[in-house]
Amino acid sequence: MIHITVTAKKAVNPEQDGLGRPYVGYEEGMTQDEMYAANHGEWAIGARAQKERYALFAFGRTVIQAVEIDNLERTTIYSGDPNEKRDDRYTINGQVLQKGHPVYDKYVGKASPVSVARNPVRYFEDPEFDGERGQLCACGCGETTTGGEFLPGHDQKAIHERIARIGTVAEFLKWMDVVRPASLGR
Ligand SMILES: [Zn+2]
Repeated sequence: MIHITVTAKKAVNPEQDGLGRPYVGYEEGMTQDEMYAANHGEWAIGARAQKERYALFAFGRTVIQAVEIDNLERTTIYSGDPNEKRDDRYTINGQVLQKGHPVYDKYVGKASPVSVARNPVRYFEDPEFDGERGQLCACGCGETTTGGEFLPGHDQKAIHERIARIGTVAEFLKWMDVVRPASLGR
């Protein structure tokens, strides 16, 4: 699972925020929808997150929200300074879980399951609920498939990229016949 620690509620400039938010963070009394709107976005999360199914959000040392992840959306943010393009941020899109969902009931309102750390984004294992949404596309693009080894078209893209490393298709065939002559079979 992904575990994200949010800040206390603070104002941000909606024009500089990739989600156009007026504020981020948490304060007591917020509804689940308000928490999601304020905090589901623009996190520096890596390839590992692509296969996670659930995200927990915590404030202080208490879990305040659980989300079942639909997808991670890459957002490119411009701060106004062209040198300050930040393109490694992701927004977690998903379903806000409610009381009665086993993940909500296990974590929300309870003590955070991870230790204190400087990085707000953490990962932890929960064998009861972990499980892959798909798998990383075998082409290396970093996206998650919905089943199978490749996203649609990515197998073709990967093959053609390798042919191009050798040269033309004709050059590739000549090269291939040298490294793996047909007479030897597989
Ligand atoms: Zn791919």
